[in-house]
Amino acid sequence: MAAMTRIFKPQFSSIFKRSLSTSTVTEDVNKARCFQWVFLGCPGVGKGTYASKLSNLLGVPHIATGDLVRHELSTSGPLSSQLEVINQGKLVSDEIIFNLLSKRLEDGESRGESGFILDGFPRTIRQAEILDSVTEIDLVVNLKLREDVLIEKCLGRRTCSECGKGFNVASINVKAKNGLPAMIMPPLPPPPNCASKLISRADDTESVVKERLRVYKEKSQPVEDYYRKQGKLMEFDLPGGIPESWPKLLEALNLDDYNHKKSAVA
Ligand SMILES: [Zn+2]
Repeated sequence: MAAMTRIFKPQFSSIFKRSLSTSTVTEDVNKARCFQWVFLGCPGVGKGTYASKLSNLLGVPHIATGDLVRHELSTSGPLSSQLEVINQGKLVSDEIIFNLLSKRLEDGESRGESGFILDGFPRTIRQAEILDSVTEIDLVVNLKLREDVLIEKCLGRRTCSECGKGFNVASINVKAKNGLPAMIMPPLPPPPNCASKLISRADDTESVVKERLRVYKEKSQPVEDYYRKQGKLMEFDLPGGIPESWPKLLEALNLDDYNHKKSAVA
């Protein structure tokens, strides 16, 4: 346990902390908006999808810690031996995740990246504090979805056993109740090539999904509170599937204009 609680030593000092004073004279006003964002949301909410769409729109990388871990393992990077622990069913320690993330941000900085959307990190207050010690988070978006819909969506998850792509076969059509909005979300069916090779996670049963959500809530609450206190948390209730939610999310983020400009250029 001692190893888990020791103080992390950031390997680099605040590379993303902006020092506006050094370049204010020539700085383009339009560049003042910075995108160093964190996406929170329970499993199945579609966090990765929205983070990825936004990263494309804004031209900043979508950094998912799960991808960093997989990448490190597949390229046999320096931390991969320590990462073998996941294969033994253990959680990856904060320290390893932090090292991978630091490395990723450093590499990005040297390539001229000017922001990021973090997905899957931080999961604890400790991680949030570590993150604050190395970079400055502008905004934390907390994506939320009606719980009954969320459960149905989780139960509809399928993965192609051949190409590894994810799909969702749940066809959601729920009525408004107790102040919750009605929702229609069509399935995201696989192409014919994958259709016969779909598998679902053995543990995607209703009781396991519910338990996973309960655990997520319990763990994420302190992180949400942490960012709420900093005035950085934006709660966003997804009104439905991507076609309905995407424009509303852009509106909430004051990006609808950004979207128009971008499509006008394209
Ligand atoms: Zn496939």
